[in-house]
Amino acid sequence: MYLYNTLTRKVEEFIPNHGREVKMYTCGPTVYHYAHIGNIRNYIGHDILEKTLKYLGYDVTRAMNITDVGHLTSDSDSGEDKMEVARKRENKTAMEIAKFYTEAFFKDFDKVNCDKPSIISPATDNIDMYIKIIEKLIKDDYAYVSGGNVYFDINKLDDYYVLTNHQEDNMVVGARDGVEEDNNKRNQADFALWFTTSKFENHELLWDSPWGKGYPGWHIECSGISIKYLGEYLDIHGGGVDNIFPHHTNEIAQSEAYLGHKWCNYWFHNEHLLDDSGKMSKSKGAILTVSLLEQQGYDPLAFRFMCLTSHYRKQLVFSYEALKQAETTLNKLRSRISNITEEGEFDKEKFDSYNNKFKEELSNDLNTANAITVLYDVLKDNSLNGKTKLELVNSFDQVFDVELIKKEIEIDGELKKYIEEKILERKEAKKSKDFEKADSIRDELLKKGVKLIDTREGTSYELI
Ligand code: AMP
Ligand code: ZN
Repeated sequence: MYLYNTLTRKVEEFIPNHGREVKMYTCGPTVYHYAHIGNIRNYIGHDILEKTLKYLGYDVTRAMNITDVGHLTSDSDSGEDKMEVARKRENKTAMEIAKFYTEAFFKDFDKVNCDKPSIISPATDNIDMYIKIIEKLIKDDYAYVSGGNVYFDINKLDDYYVLTNHQEDNMVVGARDGVEEDNNKRNQADFALWFTTSKFENHELLWDSPWGKGYPGWHIECSGISIKYLGEYLDIHGGGVDNIFPHHTNEIAQSEAYLGHKWCNYWFHNEHLLDDSGKMSKSKGAILTVSLLEQQGYDPLAFRFMCLTSHYRKQLVFSYEALKQAETTLNKLRSRISNITEEGEFDKEKFDSYNNKFKEELSNDLNTANAITVLYDVLKDNSLNGKTKLELVNSFDQVFDVELIKKEIEIDGELKKYIEEKILERKEAKKSKDFEKADSIRDELLKKGVKLIDTREGTSYELI
């Protein structure tokens, strides 16, 4: 397996610390709002990485945080905690906000067939761990208390900017527009580990600490959760490119200062999804979610497929035309596959040959677009029998996970009639923009084991 490593700025052979065992950490959502499809592109990238590693025979343990405290409106130490912004916006408690948006996040995450990491942990569940790390950092003189807050002193490190190619001038917080100076800091590029003297009144989430009642900074949560659940040696850490600085730079600084050795060998970053006005972001007004695409009649897996047709390190521009195109292509593929009859003897030699090509493409820094080309090569190979073709399609779909083969529906007439009536009722509800009703019909059917699939051609269903 070869992967681009942001740390070395090279495509490198991936060699885990312990044989085939992989410890992987990926930054999770900040649950103060819905995840937009740009965020979801990032999670699809992590999912493809995890599924590829598993397909190649690695044993992956992956952890992901849920940010429910400490992420300020700027990624550095200025602005207000995003959870506070949401709490005021919606007049709810921070935990109500977190619960609501965490559930909404996983609904959309499921819709694009992302597998849940084996460990998912909210930031607020691990306060003891952050305090333990910060205490050691202070003891070892990497961190200091000033104005009631605790800061990491970046001058204590030889190479704080290790992940960013030493572009210090561009990176220094305070040297950038819109970033407030914090007079408590020795150096404006120092970053907060723990806030007590918050600039904001009525901050709702506070915990006792040796430095007074307060709350953790955003960066410490990922170091804390990763070390707590995955140990001292991490193989891969993932995020979006905007996480490289300051978030991941700070994670490396505090984790390695705490551990006293190198922490993570490979840094994996997904490029952004753009809309016609630039990078999609939650603060940019209307949030385009996967659920919204589905309500508009698109198959969420067409979005996943669209992401797979481009390389994760390339920016991808979203447009409805591109999504429609991806959906048409995916549906054509599915229909072509549904016409294959399962005839002939399984041909192991040919299976291995195509499977190896598929693995080679994915092993080349996750070239998913070329892996799709291998699928087309399989479909058009007339010397390949139906049985072997279908085995290959099934195998490839373990990574693509776009439901290339739909499950057969075997149901009695009465249930079929009931489902069809409900689909009609839901269509009417959508037409009159009663999305709540439409969603409740979908959920009701889901409880009965019937999953609806919306496509441009209409709604179909499968039994789960
Ligand atoms: P947040 O929930 O705001 O903490 O963001 C979650 C993840 O989405 C982060 O790892 C970001 O790097 C990533 N992200 C944010 N905006 C985009 C975008 N437009 N395209 C792709 N990924 C993004
Ligand atoms: Zn993180």
